[in-house]
Amino acid sequence: MSFKIEEIKGVGEKTKNILNEIGVFTTDDLLLNFPKNYLHFTNHNNLTFKNHNEVVSIFVKVSSDLSINHYTNSKIIKFEVVLNEKAINIVAFNQLYLMKTIKKDSEIYITGKYNYYKNEIVLSKVSTHNKFKNIEPKYNFDNLLDSNISKIVKNILTENKFNIKENLPQYVINKYNLNNRIKTLKELHNPTNEESLNSAIKRMKYEEAFNFQTEMIKRINVEVKRPPIKYNNDKVRTLISKFPFKLTKDQKLAVNDIFRDFKTNKTTYRLIQGDVGSGKTVVAMLAIYGALTAGKQVLFMAPTEILAKQHFESIIKYFDNEFNSELLTSSTKNKEEIKVKLLQNEINFIVGTHALAEDDVIFNDLALIIIDEQHKFGVNVRNKVLKKGNANLIYLTATPIPRTLAISIYGDAKISLIKEKPAQRKKIITKYITNNKIDEVINHIKITINNNEKVYIVVPAISSTHAKYNVENVYLAIKRRLPEYNNIYKIHGKYNKNEQEESINNFLKDENAILVATSMIEVGIDVKNATLMVIFAANYFGLSQLHQLRGRVGRSNLQSYCYLISEREDEERLSIIEKVDDGFELSEYDLKLRGPGIFLGYDQTGHFNFKYLDFIEDYNILINVRDDIINDNKNMI
Ligand code: ADP
Ligand code: MG
Repeated sequence: MSFKIEEIKGVGEKTKNILNEIGVFTTDDLLLNFPKNYLHFTNHNNLTFKNHNEVVSIFVKVSSDLSINHYTNSKIIKFEVVLNEKAINIVAFNQLYLMKTIKKDSEIYITGKYNYYKNEIVLSKVSTHNKFKNIEPKYNFDNLLDSNISKIVKNILTENKFNIKENLPQYVINKYNLNNRIKTLKELHNPTNEESLNSAIKRMKYEEAFNFQTEMIKRINVEVKRPPIKYNNDKVRTLISKFPFKLTKDQKLAVNDIFRDFKTNKTTYRLIQGDVGSGKTVVAMLAIYGALTAGKQVLFMAPTEILAKQHFESIIKYFDNEFNSELLTSSTKNKEEIKVKLLQNEINFIVGTHALAEDDVIFNDLALIIIDEQHKFGVNVRNKVLKKGNANLIYLTATPIPRTLAISIYGDAKISLIKEKPAQRKKIITKYITNNKIDEVINHIKITINNNEKVYIVVPAISSTHAKYNVENVYLAIKRRLPEYNNIYKIHGKYNKNEQEESINNFLKDENAILVATSMIEVGIDVKNATLMVIFAANYFGLSQLHQLRGRVGRSNLQSYCYLISEREDEERLSIIEKVDDGFELSEYDLKLRGPGIFLGYDQTGHFNFKYLDFIEDYNILINVRDDIINDNKNMI
């Protein structure tokens, strides 16, 4: 049962409309709409320069008569008070009633903003008999005063017209000594003192952590019993011997981890975490091949069509038609045929995009699911794919998840880390420069082309009258600067699939070439002789994203370079990425600067809105609550 907000005393038609507009329809809606922050008043009996510009509360004696000046737009009242034997000037705007309520020699409480240099307080509140509350909630609603909201909230509580229930299990409340939910609500809206407000906030942190972890744990695959996947070890060895390179130590360890998972009699869930260019695809390929030699079906999903196609081609070229493999994306022509064949086990290996998540993509004997760059998919897509079979799951991720978040997101997933990059890789030389040094970049582009190497130019927008650095503008500008040069291509999300493919193919086939693109090339693309990455308006991108983009070069033993160009020379993030080339370190900065959303893959819906919980400071709360939920789930069975 819920109560309409207009049932409450003090909520007239006008207030109701204002509240409805911000999504508040019931009394519960309003109670759960917590103050954005609080004003903390400190009671003073002395004011110094340290209090300059602070909102202060003082108890004083009025030492002068009140004077009033009438201006066209305002009426200004002035008087003098004494605090600790020192006179202070008080200014009040448009509060005519003060002329009646305040008399010389009376003692009053006042609150206002203090200006040390003018020795003046701009009055915000005055009372002749009450001390002010030390803490005042700030809601920052448009067109509605905080004091009005406080009144409505108070009326809801005294009229007892709400229907808020406890949403934390009793064992959590007991274990961490938390307030109950209603007490917490009351305290958040109407704090008694600092200490009890802090207890209320503590409870909210647990509540947020609990809801978050409950959701996270649901996403994690439960281990299901299945017979071991009997891969053919000799065949796998033969495949490895075909590679034009030796596996790195970490690649070998990851592959061993996966095959150990195969041998158990239950499904497992593994995360292959390795920085850009560390060679995760090869590891995936060996896992795929192993499962195929066991006669099983394998699904490999990638976030973009370009990437799916690239994976498909680079992987099957090693398989020598030994298995039936297909690519399934939204632009695949013979979808129906492929689906039938999958169902009848006539296709062994399928690579694709989110098109694979559709309900009518059904497998006969699926044993392995690999998802590349899983954070690029929404939870729905991921969950649908996971339901396609009792299969081992492998996530490949190049966006290193901050250590603090990994456990929450991946829970008990087993993790294989690929730290070591293939030998002979050189550090990408990164330079942060301002737009006026663009000639340096143009020269570098020329040198790169003359070396028969390739250049990416990335900009934040496709085309727009507002954004100067868009694909169309920059493409034309580059053409103008290099008039004799023909191999300049462009690509962005508004191109249709054919146009996109044509651009990529041109870029790949030419000996040297320039590709002007949006960040759509961020994930996966692997072009060995691309050695120069130029990012315009780099300040528009997040740190992890810049790191991913930079990872498009430096994918061979050639020396590679990355320019980060910005109009300003004081962008902290760009200086960080200029110096730091470790993806983990950068992701922790990103977590601090932009919050956890970007790592969670929530389709930007802002599903989790953490108001109280800080992912770094409250790490222990997250971990403890997670253990509690897992233990509780175990006890249930
Ligand atoms: P990512 O981890 O970013 O997905 P890829 O799997 O695309 O990286 O690999 C990057 C490049 O490194 C590819 O061109 C791949 O062929 C190459 N590569 C992978 N493993 C090795 C290795 N052990 N030695 C040399 N090159 C390798
Ligand atoms: Mg990759």
